[in-house]
Amino acid sequence: MKTFCGRANPTTGSMEWLEEGEDYDYHQEIARSRYADMLHDKDRNVKYYQGIRAAVSRVKERGEKAIVLDIGTGTGLLSMMAASAGADFCYAIEVFKPMANAAVKIVEKNGFSDKIRVINKHSTEVTVGPDGDMQCRANILVTELFDTELIGEGALPTYEHAHKYLVEEGCEAVPHRATVYVQLVESKRMWSWKKLFPVCVEAEDGEKILVPPSEMENCPGVPSVCDIQLNQMPSSDFTTLSDVVTMFSVDFSKPVQSASTYYRVQLEPVKSGKAQIVLSWWDIDMDPSGMINCTMAPYWVKPTSALQWRDHWMQCVYFLPREEPVLQGEKLYLTACRDQYSVWYNLQKSREGENEADEKENKADVRVESPVCRCRAHLLWNRPRFGELNDQNRTRQYIKALRKVLKTDSVCLCISDGSLLPVLAHCLGAKQVQYFVLIFRSLHFSLVFFSHVFFKANHLEDKIKIIEARPELLKPSHLEDKKVSVLVGEPFFTTSLLPWHNLYFWYARTAVSTHLASNVTVLPHSASLHVMIVEFQDLWRIRSPCGTCEGFDVRTMDDMIKDSLNFRESKEAEPHPLWEYPCKSLSDPQEVLTFDFTKAVPQHCLRTEGSVKLLRKGKSHGAVLWMEYHLTADISVSTGLMQVSNEKGNCEWNPHCKQAVYFFSSVIESEVLSDPTAVTYAISFDTKTGEIAMDFKL
Ligand code: SAH
Repeated sequence: MKTFCGRANPTTGSMEWLEEGEDYDYHQEIARSRYADMLHDKDRNVKYYQGIRAAVSRVKERGEKAIVLDIGTGTGLLSMMAASAGADFCYAIEVFKPMANAAVKIVEKNGFSDKIRVINKHSTEVTVGPDGDMQCRANILVTELFDTELIGEGALPTYEHAHKYLVEEGCEAVPHRATVYVQLVESKRMWSWKKLFPVCVEAEDGEKILVPPSEMENCPGVPSVCDIQLNQMPSSDFTTLSDVVTMFSVDFSKPVQSASTYYRVQLEPVKSGKAQIVLSWWDIDMDPSGMINCTMAPYWVKPTSALQWRDHWMQCVYFLPREEPVLQGEKLYLTACRDQYSVWYNLQKSREGENEADEKENKADVRVESPVCRCRAHLLWNRPRFGELNDQNRTRQYIKALRKVLKTDSVCLCISDGSLLPVLAHCLGAKQVQYFVLIFRSLHFSLVFFSHVFFKANHLEDKIKIIEARPELLKPSHLEDKKVSVLVGEPFFTTSLLPWHNLYFWYARTAVSTHLASNVTVLPHSASLHVMIVEFQDLWRIRSPCGTCEGFDVRTMDDMIKDSLNFRESKEAEPHPLWEYPCKSLSDPQEVLTFDFTKAVPQHCLRTEGSVKLLRKGKSHGAVLWMEYHLTADISVSTGLMQVSNEKGNCEWNPHCKQAVYFFSSVIESEVLSDPTAVTYAISFDTKTGEIAMDFKL
């Protein structure tokens, strides 16, 4: 069956109808899935196996048959572990059809078909009884339904249902329990992901400070989790204000309640400072004694044990609704509220002379409702975007560039989503500033709302005109019949996923061509695409075949991922924030394509071919691609490589942007440095579709 899906092309902005085979979604899902990463997670796999063996032994020692329920079996791995450990029968439940099919094949290949029944259902649809999916209730419950926030993939309702209908009372559970830990910190870097800091603009007539609107000051933001590789956050970027505290635990061997609730702990700051952030992670005990523990604790918590790298479970950053000054030794309460799928935090100070009755009362006014953004900026900008707008070095570059091109009589048009540029342009003296809000973009209402609020907070409401239109529908009257003398963009658009999607600026510029003065200045005047070959420290695992996992042959899964990656015969680059994923450069960075914003988008494709020399020893896992914007002749900003920081080739990436990663299908190891190997490439930018196609040969 074919279906047509409508979407606005992120680069060209035009509406397009794509014919999608019904397989398409699932190929995307498999190709970009975390299954490979999980299979490479040795620490997780070993501990699950130990926990499962121990649980099967305990049941056998009681003289019972071991009947296993494995919810979310994926490749069938945990069921195969159970069957090998001597389980009598396993019911392996998997809701995602392509995975259930894969599990059937993998189970068969490993010779467990008589012990494992794969059931392609959501666990809440599974029936028990003589004619049911399961003959009887299970006495061992095995699952791996956790995300970085523990409960985000619906573990709680799934467990709640399983205890009611699918497993026996007093069953063994692997994992047996999960515990969530928190630590209170102050961090300018992380706080800059939550709120807009004042912006300092040095103008001709003195320094001006742009302030965030008051609506933003106490806005709780959005409840979506901020999950990051906290192990890449240097300790100089935050100050811990408390010890690590246990926030809550869930015992999976007993009935689980998923209804919204809250947990509260008392804290005493070990240091005075500004409480801004709650860092959080969890661990799971595979057995009741807690001897088999798998932890997501970051490097400063367990400095002695070797850290297992994994991307499917990271750590969480929670933003307190507002910054709270705290004193060392003072009594504080930290509350974790949760609904079925997410967690959020509040901090309360205990009041002077508070007694137990007050404390109870205090408990009653704990807000359990999930945070709702009131200022709309949190709907508009994601966390990295906040970080980018708060990056003063970056702002300085734009200010410097704007100062070079703006004149007092400039008629300035700005095209970029939720940007400070129109305000900067005004402060720097442009007489007339128009801010183009592109109305076909989904967030346009929030954008207009926030822009008004922000302009008002800075007394600019009648200084900057917001134009709500599609670029191709711009009329002379929008511009008061004037021609644009300066066209500016960061460029940044909320719909961009890959670096080159922001080339939408070029398309919008083309659409408004007739409104530009003949001597218009376009800032940035051009962009360039850059490429570099890298060796990843760890990220390679997410796309690398696994072969066998704890002795089980999972090549069927490897093949399935490979097929999905090759689906449509074109491998694609994928976005990753590389500051979280250390890599070293094996080649010099190379500029491969340039885009001239002073001219309209050409009709023909832009193509390039060439080669990159491998100058360093290492494994070529893939190519990284990023954009650089050339604001003026001597001011450029990079959304990718900032610098190669040492002899070893360690790279430093722009911390606010995702770069594009193209994983090579086979890895080569470069050895001989006297005669460097070259990787050849062919890269083309299709100006009709806005897509960049690439091919690399090693
Ligand atoms: N157990 C495997 C895979 C874990 S990934 C392993 O440890 O390697 C989790 C899997 O559970 C996914 O494939 C997802 O589709 C499935 N899943 C999640 N919730 C489910 C539910 N309630 N019922 C059935 N499958 C579920």
